[in-house]
Amino acid sequence: MTYFSTRGGVSALTFSEAVMMGLAEDGGLLLPRTIPRLDAATVYSWREKSYAGLAFEVMSRFIDDIPASDLRALVNESYAAFDQAEVIPLVHYGNLHILELFHGPTLAFKDIALQFLGNLFAYLLKKSGDRMNILGATSGDTGSAAIYAVRGKAGINIFILHPYQRVSPVQEKQMTAVLDENVHNIAIRGSFDDGQAIVKGIFADLEFKKAHHLAAINSINWARVLAQVVYYIWSCLHVWAHENLNSIDFAVPTGNFGDIFAGFIAKRMLPEGMIRRLVLATNTNDILARFVEKGDYSLGEVVQTSSPSMDIQSASNFERYLYYLTDSDPKRTGDLMKEFAEKGRLDLSGYLDQIKRDFATEAIGEKTVKATIAEFYKEHKYILDPHTAVGVAAALRQQKPGVAMVCLATAHPAKFAAVVEEAIGLPPPVPESLAGILQRESRCEVMDADAGLVKAFIKSHDL
Ligand SMILES: *Cc1c(COP(=O)(O)O)cnc(C)c1O
Repeated sequence: MTYFSTRGGVSALTFSEAVMMGLAEDGGLLLPRTIPRLDAATVYSWREKSYAGLAFEVMSRFIDDIPASDLRALVNESYAAFDQAEVIPLVHYGNLHILELFHGPTLAFKDIALQFLGNLFAYLLKKSGDRMNILGATSGDTGSAAIYAVRGKAGINIFILHPYQRVSPVQEKQMTAVLDENVHNIAIRGSFDDGQAIVKGIFADLEFKKAHHLAAINSINWARVLAQVVYYIWSCLHVWAHENLNSIDFAVPTGNFGDIFAGFIAKRMLPEGMIRRLVLATNTNDILARFVEKGDYSLGEVVQTSSPSMDIQSASNFERYLYYLTDSDPKRTGDLMKEFAEKGRLDLSGYLDQIKRDFATEAIGEKTVKATIAEFYKEHKYILDPHTAVGVAAALRQQKPGVAMVCLATAHPAKFAAVVEEAIGLPPPVPESLAGILQRESRCEVMDADAGLVKAFIKSHDL
C-alpha cells in the first residue's frame, strides 16, 4: 500500500514514511492509494478475535512495510495499557449500544490511536537511529493522550499547546502533571484554533521542520485514523453478537472530523450497507452540522461549551473527506482548501446527495446536553460525559427502526465531573488514575499566541 497527498504533490510513500511525514509536504493530508474492501465472510470470521487481534487484521491491510510479527507486537503492547480486558467494551442501554472508548490511560478515546502511534514512532526511530520532536495542539484530550503515548520514550520530545485556562482543571493536570523530561506543555493565550494555526504554520516552515525533526501527533496523522477504523469494525462484530441486525448507524461526537472520518473509511471497507449512516453530532459549534445539512462549510466564532474537545470550527481532517467528495480530484481539493483559507467559507451544496448518503447530522445545544445526561442517568443509571451526551442526543433523534445504533462514548464522565454533577446531582465516581490529580505537582510554560515564541522554545529544548 502506498500513500499520497490529497493535493497531489506527494505520492508513493510507504506507510512508515506517511506516518513520519504527518502533514503532507504540499500542505495536504495523506491517504492510502486504495481503501481495501472486506467481504462479509472475512469480517464474520473475525468474530472471536481479541481487540488487538482484530486491530492487527485491519491494520495489516494498510501496512506492508512492517514485518507481521513486529506489527502484532506493536498492537499488543498498545492495547495492554487499557484497564478492561475487552479494551473497548460495547454496553447496551435501551435501544442504544454504547461503545466505551475511554478505558485507556487518560480516560478518553484518543488513547486508542495514540498508544499505537507512540509505540509506532518509538519502533521506527529505533530502526532509523533518528530523533523526533513531536508538536501538537490540543483542545484538551489529545494533549494528555499524546503525552502518555510517548512519555519517557528514548529519542522523542513532545511539545503540546493547549488554550490557556480553556481546558478543564482535570484535563490540564493530566497534561502538566507528567514530569518526564521529554514532556513540554505550552499554554497559549488564545483559543484551540489559535494553537492549531500556530502548529500548522510551524509545520509549513519546511526548513524548521527538517532541522528539528518535527512530527505531528494531531489527528492529521494517518496512523491515528487507521487505529480508529478498527473499533467501527469491532462494533459491528459485537452488535451482531447482541442483536440480529445487519445494518448499523453510528453516532459520533465530532470536532476535528477525525473519528468520524475513520468511520467513513470503515464504511467503505465493509460490504455495502453494513454501516448505513454516520450521524455527525456537534455541539453549538456546528460548522460540520451545517455542512451536512446544507453544504454550507463556513467558519463561525468558536463558542465554549461543556464539551470542550469539540469546540472547534475548522476541522483538521475535513480535507480528507473533501478529497473523496470531489471524486478523488487533488486539484479541486487543493483549490477548495485555498478558497476556504481565503474566505472562511465554502459552498458545497452541489455535493449534498453524496454527503447525505454518508452522513446524517444533529447540532446539540447546551440545554439538551445536560438534559440527556440527566435523563439517561434516570432511566439507566448510566453516566454519560458531555461529549458522549452530544452523540447520544443525536442518536435518539436519528434512530431508525430495524437499524442498530452505536454511540461512541469518547470520554469518562469523571473527566468532566462539574458538568455531570450539575446534570445528575452527584459527582461521577472517580477512577483510580484520577484520584488526587488536582493536587499533583505540575510544569507548564504560558505564552502569547505567537509562532515565533513557540519556535524559539522548541529550538532551545531540542534533543
Ligand atoms: C477529540 C474528542 C472528540 C472529537 O473527536 P474528533 O476526532 O476531533 O472529531 C470527541 N470527544 C472527546 C472526548 C474528544 O477528546
